[in-house]
Amino acid sequence: MHEIFDSYSSLPEDLRLIRSTIADFVRQEIVPHETQALKQDLRELPTDVVKNLQVKSRAAGFWYMDVPESLGGGGLPTFPYVVAYEAASHHAFCYPDPGCGVFGYDLPNVLLNASQSQIDRYVKVSVQEARQWFFGISEPSGGSDPARSIQTRATRVGNKWVLNGRKMWTSRADVAQHGIVFARTGEGRTGISAFILDLPLKGLTHRPVQVIRDHATTELLLDEVEIPLDHLLGEEGGGFALTQKWLTKSRLKVAAQSIGSAQAAIEIAADYATVRSTFGALLATRQSIQNLLVDSYMELHAARLMLWDAAMRDERGEDARQVASMAKLYCTERSFQAVDRAVQVLGGMGLSREMPLEHWFRGLRVTRIIEGPSEVHRMLLARALLGESSLDKRSDSKPNSSPK
Ligand SMILES: Cc1cc2nc3c(=O)[nH]c(=O)nc-3n(C[C@H](O)[C@H](O)[C@H](O)COP(=O)(O)OP(=O)(O)OC[C@H]3O[C@@H](n4cnc5c(N)ncnc54)[C@H](O)[C@@H]3O)c2cc1C
Repeated sequence: MHEIFDSYSSLPEDLRLIRSTIADFVRQEIVPHETQALKQDLRELPTDVVKNLQVKSRAAGFWYMDVPESLGGGGLPTFPYVVAYEAASHHAFCYPDPGCGVFGYDLPNVLLNASQSQIDRYVKVSVQEARQWFFGISEPSGGSDPARSIQTRATRVGNKWVLNGRKMWTSRADVAQHGIVFARTGEGRTGISAFILDLPLKGLTHRPVQVIRDHATTELLLDEVEIPLDHLLGEEGGGFALTQKWLTKSRLKVAAQSIGSAQAAIEIAADYATVRSTFGALLATRQSIQNLLVDSYMELHAARLMLWDAAMRDERGEDARQVASMAKLYCTERSFQAVDRAVQVLGGMGLSREMPLEHWFRGLRVTRIIEGPSEVHRMLLARALLGESSLDKRSDSKPNSSPK
């Protein structure tokens, strides 16, 4: 693809360098293995390949890039991190994990604000050993509105917490060594607390819940699960506030991931249009095809700038919840449409399992629901824009309620 202009040229030099070195690593180390895997109809890299590449990524300084250096990570603040995360998502199997685990796994950022003993106990070792974590907010009763839908209960009994309830759609619970679950210790939004679980645990079972291919989720059953008192994360009743901190960063990540895959899709579609002919002329000569590609390119540029702005605000310590909502919503919706258009440009090949487009198509469909469905972000933004007038008086909805 010819670049209209270099989207990244407005970045400071050091960020351009971070971006390009990660992009090179992905292109040279990950993409060739994926090309092989696609030929064999696989949708993930073999474990031994991931383990070998993890060694290389550690040596290159790309290991857990958002975790402070003192805890074994790369120490990137939010803005450089989203730039790096986009570059790490520019490859076929970037869903659910950019880099397929080669850059480490998703470490819940709330752990970085945990008590010192919890940081000592969990963070360094998780980074060192690439331990996986799950988080359980959503329940069968709903995920968008956790303040009302969480029914799982935690009760203090002697020197233990005892947890009972069910969690739904929990990603990675089948492979994780640890998890964070949110459970009710009181009423209302200040009656939710967060707990660290070390697996396996007596009374904790899960069953696989099949969703769109490539995304393994589970339903968790907690039946008289006992954990020590010091596994409470943060304050008792402070769980809902913790989700706010957590979700702002994770929304920026999903926004960056969506742009990375959509950018790759546009490149494939643009290249295809310059070699494929129909009715005696290249697709690239058709204005209807040009419009699809140019609109995607333009929207992706706007999405990227919105994401960068949200990340810079977060990094400066501003309350970035609303801009993060906007960025998550805009980036995932525009990216999904960009991939949909790219599929259209390639015709049947766009849907072929030998190409990564159908993988991105499915992955991006998920991003419009996780980390808060688009409609709920619009609701939150409408509350900010319209204030009290937007509130549904039939419910006890209040401004600043946040979706999962
Ligand atoms: C692949 C996958 C992985 C996931 N991983 C995890 C995980 O690891 N941990 C976890 O806790 N959860 C996880 N989830 C759950 C996810 O966060 C929820 O699916 C999401 O928050 C929506 O909740 P829900 O499915 O219960 O939909 P509901 O809350 O029932 O909402 C249904 C739909 O109603 C609409 N809607 C809701 N509220 C409003 C409103 N106020 N105005 C207008 N429309 C509205 C939206 O379109 C929404 O999609 C995962 C889900 C999937 C599909």
